[in-house]
Amino acid sequence: MPDLHFKQIGNPQSEPQSRTPNNDRDVAKSSDTWCPIPWTGLGVRTVGDLRYCCHSQSSKSRGLLRSQDGAILNLKENRLSDGVNADLLKEVRTAMLKGERHSGCQRCFKEEDAGIHSRRLSEQVTWEQYSIEDCSKKTKPDGSISLSDFPVRYLDLRFGNKCNLKCRMCGPSESDKWYDLTLKLWNEDEFKDGHRTLKIIKDDKGRVGLKVDPYKWHESSSFWAELEEYLPQIERIYLAGGEPLLIDAQFEFLQKCIDLGHSGHITLEYNSNLTALNERIVKIWSEFKKVEVGISIDGIGEINNYIRAGSDWNKLEKNIVALDRAAGNFKLWIASTIQIYNLYHLPQFMWWSVSNKFQRINRSKIGREFFTPHPLTNPAFLAITTFPQKSKLKIREHFELEKRKFSEQILECEVFGLGEGFQLERAQARFPKVLDNYINIMFSRDTSDQIDRFWKYTNRLDEIHGTSFRDVAPETYELMKL
Ligand code: SF4
Repeated sequence: MPDLHFKQIGNPQSEPQSRTPNNDRDVAKSSDTWCPIPWTGLGVRTVGDLRYCCHSQSSKSRGLLRSQDGAILNLKENRLSDGVNADLLKEVRTAMLKGERHSGCQRCFKEEDAGIHSRRLSEQVTWEQYSIEDCSKKTKPDGSISLSDFPVRYLDLRFGNKCNLKCRMCGPSESDKWYDLTLKLWNEDEFKDGHRTLKIIKDDKGRVGLKVDPYKWHESSSFWAELEEYLPQIERIYLAGGEPLLIDAQFEFLQKCIDLGHSGHITLEYNSNLTALNERIVKIWSEFKKVEVGISIDGIGEINNYIRAGSDWNKLEKNIVALDRAAGNFKLWIASTIQIYNLYHLPQFMWWSVSNKFQRINRSKIGREFFTPHPLTNPAFLAITTFPQKSKLKIREHFELEKRKFSEQILECEVFGLGEGFQLERAQARFPKVLDNYINIMFSRDTSDQIDRFWKYTNRLDEIHGTSFRDVAPETYELMKL
């Protein structure tokens, strides 16, 4: 953890006299609530709406930034800079600097309370040149900032919802493959994305699409012009989707960075399912300062294929190994979503990650943990808090057993390529801790009133996909029946 209290960006001596620190703010107290993200840049949803952070998605406000008249800012009509001092962002900054937990950031705080390394903590390491003291000093009492003090250095960009998978916890606003599934699953030809109701249509060849498609917001020329303005100062871009490796606009953007000579100072961060990885992409990435990829998989083998419908584990595992060995400046980690379908499988999944002779995946000594799952919160009927109470006790027993097994197996670490002291020590310390964290989360709430919805949803999806929950995850199937 960096020394957050005393690092400064810029030269403090050159600050105008009027910029005295806001003395009502308790800088020491803010270290428990402060995160650099609200000072570094902005986020863009798949549909073009501006938000302050992707992790605010699960909050009531969904992190959406609005104009003075209350309309959600969208890049089809608005500029990125319109969001910098939106009311919600000012509120978040003010709360963080006062040491208060803003409700929009509840996901990070809940994860920290459960012992999970939150995005807030990771971002403090990523943006170590930002400090609470400097942010406090240059932020006005109402939470507003100026772009000259805090140029846009970070963008979270989602160029639409094109995807090749129909993950069980996803929906049509994140994957266009869900349009057809929405028709079949809910027998509905409409869905909501924020304040919009979007109509799904089928053409005479049976192809499914939208009557009006707002996910093509990035065709707006003003967006590209503004983006070009910011490129010289951008340090980091987070790209997700949809599946970013399938989206043409994402490649257009990367090419622009290369052609304008800015790729060398930009780190790309991805969430990708890696199913579309190829040599061309790895070559483009080699032009950038660094590429960090959170690999979106939710288990090994059939469990992953089941949750991430459309995946082929055998091909995917080859892509994972290929990227782990590829030439280039990469940092890789597993970004999995822990839910009812894969909680029981978690020890086996972690063992796969630890025991493979990966060179990069979760092997970084700073920033990313030895295994990096996140608990699913929505939809609630898939969350691990929905397990019946009796099943929760059995899962705890199973995890205790797995912890004992792990401490014996780890002694054979040389066999599994864990000879390096650092990784071995980290695995010994963290494997039991990760399981304990998920036990805590599972018991933190009781949402078992969602069990009926879980079964209706699971059975209907199994009918549509021709899959069987019972065959793929027999232990979890029995646990949900208790
Ligand atoms: S605390 Fe979490 S939710 Fe809030 S801005 Fe930081 S990373 Fe995002």
